[in-house]
Amino acid sequence: MKKSIAGLMKEPGAREGFEFVMEDMPADEEYRILDPPRVSGEVVNAGNHLAVSAVVLTRIEGVCARCLDPVVYPMRIEFEDMFIRQGGAETESGESEFYPLTEDWLDLGQCAWEHIVSALPMQLLCAEDCPGLCPHCGADLKKGPCGCRVRETDPRLAVLARLGSEFV
Ligand SMILES: [Zn+2]
Ligand SMILES: [Zn+2]
Repeated sequence: MKKSIAGLMKEPGAREGFEFVMEDMPADEEYRILDPPRVSGEVVNAGNHLAVSAVVLTRIEGVCARCLDPVVYPMRIEFEDMFIRQGGAETESGESEFYPLTEDWLDLGQCAWEHIVSALPMQLLCAEDCPGLCPHCGADLKKGPCGCRVRETDPRLAVLARLGSEFV
């Protein structure tokens, strides 16, 4: 969504709200976007720069990193981006990052998409304590024990156990 800034640029303090739904989403290999992201917020002419603040709402679907079950993950992303005309007013020193204003419009769809991508989780879990799949038979351990009788001993624990018996 490209928003014209012609009106906003006229006077400091001017503000314009926006709300749009992102229809044409770039594909992401790992996740499916279930709901077209809804973006709402406002652009403020803050004197020497334009400040965009917005909220993105969407839901994505992926698979649990442990048991491979599908997981639906709701996302709510708040972001703020600042734009400044190149060669314009001086940039205040600080942590904030300014993007150059090169056109008479802001590509708010692009801003929102970048924030969605950086907010995507590294991995999804169907539950924090998902036990995953049995490494021996592949059974989904969430549904109960699989009956495998292999006793797994953590090598570090085995060392401790040996040390323990030596010091008795
Ligand atoms: Zn899981
Ligand atoms: Zn098993």
